[in-house]
Amino acid sequence: MQTRELQTSECRQCCSFCDRVVHPSGCIAKNCKFLYSYDDEDGRRFMGCMNKVFSVEIDVELFREAERTRHGFGGVKLTGSPIEPCRVSVERAYDGYGDAFDCTNPQFFDLRALCSS
Ligand code: SF4
Ligand code: SF4
Repeated sequence: MQTRELQTSECRQCCSFCDRVVHPSGCIAKNCKFLYSYDDEDGRRFMGCMNKVFSVEIDVELFREAERTRHGFGGVKLTGSPIEPCRVSVERAYDGYGDAFDCTNPQFFDLRALCSS
C-alpha cells in the first residue's frame, strides 16, 4: 500500500479559511474495516478510525441524532492520510468577494492526490 503523508488539514492563505474534513457517515456507508467502536464504563458507545484519518472519538448516540437532522453530522478534521473508502471534502468557513477571498492554493482542493489505495 502506497501512503502519502498528510501535509496539512487547513489552509489560511486567504480569508476563506478552509479545512479538509472526513465524514464519518461515509465510514459507516462503506462498512469500513478500520472503523472501531467501544462502550465506556457509563455505557456510552464511541467510534473512531484505527488509521487515525480522524483522531477524535465520536459519541455514537450524538452522531445518530445529528444524522437525523437536515444537515447531518457533517465532517471532522482530517488528521491522517485518507484511503479510498474515506469520504473527504473541503469546508470553507467564509465566503466573500474581492482579493481577500481569492484562492491562491487551488491544489488544497485536490483530495484525490491525498488518497492512497
Ligand atoms: S479509514 Fe477512512 S473510511 Fe475507514 S474508518 Fe477511517 S476515515 Fe473512515
Ligand atoms: S480558498 Fe484557497 S487559499 Fe483560501 S483558504 Fe481556501 S484553499 Fe486556502
